[in-house]
Amino acid sequence: MLKSFFLVLGGASKAIMAASLGTDDFFEGDVKVEMMPANALWDKACKHLKDVLHADVFSRWIAVIEPLELNGNSLLLGVDNDFYQSWLEENYLPLIHKALRAVSDIDWQISFTVKDHPRQQPPKSEPETRKTVSERLDKKPATGKKVPAASLNSKYKMESFVVGPSNSFAYAAACAVAEAPARAYNPLFIYGGVGLGKTHLMQAIGHLALEKGKVRNVRYLSSETMLNEYIDALQNRKLPQFRKRYRNADLLLIDDIHFLAGKDRIQEEFFHTFNALFDSHKQIIMTSDRPASEISGLEHRLVSRFEWGLVTELEQPDFETRMAILRYKLKEMQIDVPEQALSFIAENVCANVRRLEGALIRAVSFASLTKQELTVDSLKHLLRDTIEQEKRVEVSFSSIQRAVAEYYDVRVADMTSKRRPRSIAVPRQVAMYICRQMTNASLPDIAAAFDKTHATILHATRTIENRMDVDEELKISVREISRKLGKALV
Ligand code: ADP
Ligand code: MG
Repeated sequence: MLKSFFLVLGGASKAIMAASLGTDDFFEGDVKVEMMPANALWDKACKHLKDVLHADVFSRWIAVIEPLELNGNSLLLGVDNDFYQSWLEENYLPLIHKALRAVSDIDWQISFTVKDHPRQQPPKSEPETRKTVSERLDKKPATGKKVPAASLNSKYKMESFVVGPSNSFAYAAACAVAEAPARAYNPLFIYGGVGLGKTHLMQAIGHLALEKGKVRNVRYLSSETMLNEYIDALQNRKLPQFRKRYRNADLLLIDDIHFLAGKDRIQEEFFHTFNALFDSHKQIIMTSDRPASEISGLEHRLVSRFEWGLVTELEQPDFETRMAILRYKLKEMQIDVPEQALSFIAENVCANVRRLEGALIRAVSFASLTKQELTVDSLKHLLRDTIEQEKRVEVSFSSIQRAVAEYYDVRVADMTSKRRPRSIAVPRQVAMYICRQMTNASLPDIAAAFDKTHATILHATRTIENRMDVDEELKISVREISRKLGKALV
């Protein structure tokens, strides 16, 4: 039930509740059933929070929250964008929980969501002009029909996707597919490392295609969910319903398809779903952390189908794009940060956009809470964990192998082959060395990725280390490859 909830109370608690909340109430037998609007509950909690929080903190982080829904003992709170959501979840959830409990004597399950629509009535403390970019973006076009949500996250829109050289091709392909589903490129296969915007871009296609009326039925899900639904359907003998659900989609978005590696039965099932959709001219979009051909344990016939349409990569954003992303997010939050501080973040957090967002929110929150100007020194301290993490860029073995193979112009398959000519042995050792330096993976894991023993990996790492001391050319090669992967090692 929306915006209100019912409580069944007895004795003293109901009187206290009614008195403390000023609620509408009515009787049912000898039990009093009270209806408390979400707003009344939230207002009470806010009064409580106002007493315990600094006024600036209150107006920045709490006054912007809108109570959306009460259901049983669950309370859904809406915020304008994901910055607020993550910061509130990380920092204020216990306090909000405590405040709600203090005013209602109920253990609320609190969750946050990014609001779909602009707030109808801005809170009194906020002047009318304080509309966020996301509110403006979330406005539907005047003529646009209201479109179903299709399990898409409202924050993942084309308008909020910052475009730069690292993603412009994927972005253009995404727009083309949204404009002409099942005509431009089918399937569309988007791959790239973690936190580089695959899910964002994929869902943005869904939103845009819906808004433009190009599709009616969009289905978004991760391949893990698909697997679970499949197992469920098998167990409950509901395979026909399972198939229908997928095959009814005009636009099927399957996220993180690499998860299907080695799972033969769901691959078989998906193969038929893919064919059915493709044959009936329905658009399929998939994402993966690597190209289909490099997903070991993915059936060949699937690999070849995934490559029928357009394959596009999301790469790590360059410095300018990272700055543009930071500026966009700041505009969304209507906060100013000194240019120097922004450059420091963009320079030091390179590997993924999710981490970049995290660093920014940490910095902004620190400045807001302490009322201190952000300086390079304070940022160094504040972001020390992130910077430390960045030194060990999370790149996959396969992307390292690919980058090395490309650099030395050898085949990716040579990285794991048993062949020993020097032209292959050196690149292979370089790849092993980079895997050791750039990932947190254990020796056995790296060994498995190269189909070698871990003694071989150790030997290769030492050899490259020693040789780099005397071989300038090798050092330059390692530097170039590792820079391409996100962080220059030497
Ligand atoms: P992936 O699915 O590749 O792991 P996500 O799509 O979940 O990555 O993106 C991680 C976060 O970074 C999300 O909050 C997303 O909105 C943001 N993000 C990624 N790329 C961009 C971009 N180009 N512009 C704006 N935000 C981005
Ligand atoms: Mg994702």
